[in-house]
Amino acid sequence: MSWQGKILRVDLTSRTCVAEPLNKDWRDACIGLRGLASRYLFAECDPRADPLSPDVPLIFATGPLTGTSAATGGRYAVITKGALTGAIACSNSGGYFGAALKFAGWDMIIFTGRAESPVYLWLDNDRAELRPAEDFIWGKSFWEAEEALKERHGHDVKVAGIGRAGENRVRFAAIMNDRDRAAGRSGVGAVMGAKALKAIAVRGQRGVSVKDPARFAEVVMEGHALLAASASRHSLTTYGTIAMMSKTGAFGALPTRNCRDVTFEKYEDISEQAMRTPPAPGRRPNLVTNKACFACTIGCGRVARIQPDHFTARKGKRYTLPQGGLEYESAYALGAMVGVADLDACTYANMVCNEEGMDPISFGVTLAAAMELYELGVISESETGMPLPFGSPQALVEMVAQTARAEGFGAELAKGSRRLCAQHGRPELSMSVKGQEFPGYDPRAMQGMGLAYATSPRGACHLRADPYQSDFTTADPAVKPPIVKDTQDENAAIDSLGICAFTTAGWDLDFMARLMDAACEGNWTKERLLKAGERIWTLERLFNLAAGFAGRDDTLPPRSLNEPAPSGVNRGEVCHLQAMLEAYYRLRQWDDQGRPEPALLERLGLPALTE
Ligand code: SF4
Repeated sequence: MSWQGKILRVDLTSRTCVAEPLNKDWRDACIGLRGLASRYLFAECDPRADPLSPDVPLIFATGPLTGTSAATGGRYAVITKGALTGAIACSNSGGYFGAALKFAGWDMIIFTGRAESPVYLWLDNDRAELRPAEDFIWGKSFWEAEEALKERHGHDVKVAGIGRAGENRVRFAAIMNDRDRAAGRSGVGAVMGAKALKAIAVRGQRGVSVKDPARFAEVVMEGHALLAASASRHSLTTYGTIAMMSKTGAFGALPTRNCRDVTFEKYEDISEQAMRTPPAPGRRPNLVTNKACFACTIGCGRVARIQPDHFTARKGKRYTLPQGGLEYESAYALGAMVGVADLDACTYANMVCNEEGMDPISFGVTLAAAMELYELGVISESETGMPLPFGSPQALVEMVAQTARAEGFGAELAKGSRRLCAQHGRPELSMSVKGQEFPGYDPRAMQGMGLAYATSPRGACHLRADPYQSDFTTADPAVKPPIVKDTQDENAAIDSLGICAFTTAGWDLDFMARLMDAACEGNWTKERLLKAGERIWTLERLFNLAAGFAGRDDTLPPRSLNEPAPSGVNRGEVCHLQAMLEAYYRLRQWDDQGRPEPALLERLGLPALTE
């Protein structure tokens, strides 16, 4: 119950689509979505393979609550080996595509091989067919492709796919769905582009049944009431995630100008209040309204407009209609990190990322690294084609378009900050972990987040652990390891259910276990979810170790470890990673090289390390 019991295998090389039963043992051990697909990847992917080779599977996975009436129950994830990092990649997205895939009768799709010429997958419920994409949607932006597929197959169809960034194998290309929802991180879109797979269009008309419909409906209603009463939920609905800008801006935790500072003096210009305030008398504000994903009662999404006379609208591409607006992470990366305080330029760059399918975090942080290289004289205008100082909105809007098309200096930015900085002999200027760029929290100001970045299996990530409250309360590194370890396990479980992580605004793991127990076979408790979360975390670790990563990769850039924060509440601090890491490894039952102990693997029912 709550599963369709069926996965689709698509071999792009031989152009075959075959259905097979879902592995129930792995489902019971690893829940769904992130966990279950990681189990399949672990079994079927050579961890040493090049992420852009045909050998690496690309998995689209739903969870047990995807497509149910549980609030936010529309999530799906893409699991593969990251083009940006070479580590395990799991990128999670909302919108309506995930529920449509489940409604079509599929729990997962596993793509292998590479198409000889570009294709898209057409799923009309349980009928699956690969169709040519060349001379149709290949070479188009994601928005153009999505519209063309809806025109051909019907406007009830949901689409996930890549824009030109994925086709051009931009290392941080995203997979987009429902116009501006994204499986955004680690370069999953480049893996899709390397397979010459442009999109999946799906019509799903079945329901999803649950184990105990009456009890499930009661728990769902209780969940709605919990969210309705939550102040954090109210903030997400009213202000969106960009409300965090005021907090990190005032606290001094906002990575600024490639982390040369932790305070952006103009953070209020790219804040939630700036989005809501008319820029001049008679003008309309940037924010148009909020919006929600499938079954969501939070609605954190932003819809925004650009002022019609802004310079971005006078040359090249115009965005005259309201589109997906800035969230905290995009405002940080396209704003503070590159020193740009022009709200319209940041909004424009974010829209280009959505249209072309590109992660705004990695793009912004890579541009920031390039700006530092430029200001240090390591690269010059003859290479960049234009001045590239921090704070230039012109550079931001020009480079975002060049990067998506891998043209001009954009072809260099498309490699990501790690490759760009290494190529110019300054690897220390890449603000990344395992090759994935920092989200919007500086590890010198937020010690727990530093440990979370260093140990995240997909590289620097703000969603793999939840040390926020602790980090805004104390800088004491001694308290961080158990918080980070416990919330990593908890988040791994939540990411595997098929609901959005923002439900923690009103729900705890006990409540989520009750939802699961009413929906799915077996007895689901908080303890079972936590153990599954620990299993998933360990499984991801095993994949990375087999891929060649080791304890030495659980680190941060030298700037985080050696250059004291120049401002803010925690001025003078560096990130005390080493002490936290030792305690963290002990809590994880890993040896001093970061390898899981045999007793841990036995307790979690995982295979032993072979090396
Ligand atoms: S809280 Fe936001 S991201 Fe999460 S499901 Fe709702 S609208 Fe989507």
